[in-house]
Amino acid sequence: MAGEPQDDCLFCKIVAGHIPATIVRETETTVAFRDINPQAPTHVLVIPKAHYKDAAALAAQAPQLAADVLAETQAVADEDKLESYRIVFNTGAGAGQTVWHAHAHVLGGRGMEWPPG
Ligand code: IMP
Repeated sequence: MAGEPQDDCLFCKIVAGHIPATIVRETETTVAFRDINPQAPTHVLVIPKAHYKDAAALAAQAPQLAADVLAETQAVADEDKLESYRIVFNTGAGAGQTVWHAHAHVLGGRGMEWPPG
């Protein structure tokens, strides 16, 4: 069922505390932790605690939770004192999504180019 924890989901295991992560923020509905393979000085993933497979499912099925995730990206940027930063939701394999639990990448602390690869 939508939102229910999935046994085979890496990020559900982080939410449950079964896999360690460097958690930088936690709210009632979200967790933010440092990416294990950082692509910028700040690279934090913000996830809903509830399981949705990607940003599209999250936005469609739990819009308030999607708003919570977005608000937390701002909080992470504030905490790391980022003047500018990029928020990325890779959605679908073709866009580079590899973990099937919705997550926002917050990237900052270096200059960035457009378009992204
Ligand atoms: P995606 O490619 O947009 O799905 O992003 C998944 C992200 O999860 C990648 O940037 C990975 O480096 C990151 N990642 C994978 N496993 C872990 C972990 O155990 N802890 C923290 N980040 C992880």
